[in-house]
Amino acid sequence: MNISITPSHIIQYLYCPRFTYFEYLLRIPQYEGRHFKVVKGREVHERKARENIEYMRKRLGVVQKWHNQYLTNDLIRGEVDEIYLLEDGTMAALDYKFAKYEDKVYATYKTQLYCYAWLIRSNFKKEVKKGFLVYTRSKNKLIEVEVAEKHVEEIKKVATSIAEILSKNRYPKATKVKRRCLSCTYRNICTK
Ligand code: SF4
Repeated sequence: MNISITPSHIIQYLYCPRFTYFEYLLRIPQYEGRHFKVVKGREVHERKARENIEYMRKRLGVVQKWHNQYLTNDLIRGEVDEIYLLEDGTMAALDYKFAKYEDKVYATYKTQLYCYAWLIRSNFKKEVKKGFLVYTRSKNKLIEVEVAEKHVEEIKKVATSIAEILSKNRYPKATKVKRRCLSCTYRNICTK
């Protein structure tokens, strides 16, 4: 079985590991998947944002940049809006969000950046210590997100668990957050 996991798979697994089983193994679609949509910067906003943040790239110490890079490694794949090589020799991903900044960075956005950090490391063989988010509905507010070793390790663990569920047909553990079951698409078929 050829397994290629996306940041959305990882985000869903972190919400409840059984989503992986129902959606990707049994192929029962989730009708309430809105929690997990990877919110992208809409095209026009993203184009304008790219022009507007040019000056910020200088401030961030960007020495080289790549746009819309589709990257893969042994387990995951993803398209990164921008990848930077920074003055200190490390690299970073930047992701545009067609969203307002609400004084906190959602865990799902961080998870995406951690996935991109892993992909950048695998493909460019460089260290990644941070990532960036641009909120196109908050005047292109730029937020820096720390990427530590433990974050990438966690993503690797999750990706390995997903691969195991899919390749060995394993029924995963339920989420520990029981209130998530109340509004879950799969609540009628899920054995607690
Ligand atoms: S009912 Fe609960 S345990 Fe089952 S899939 Fe939904 S969230 Fe997960």
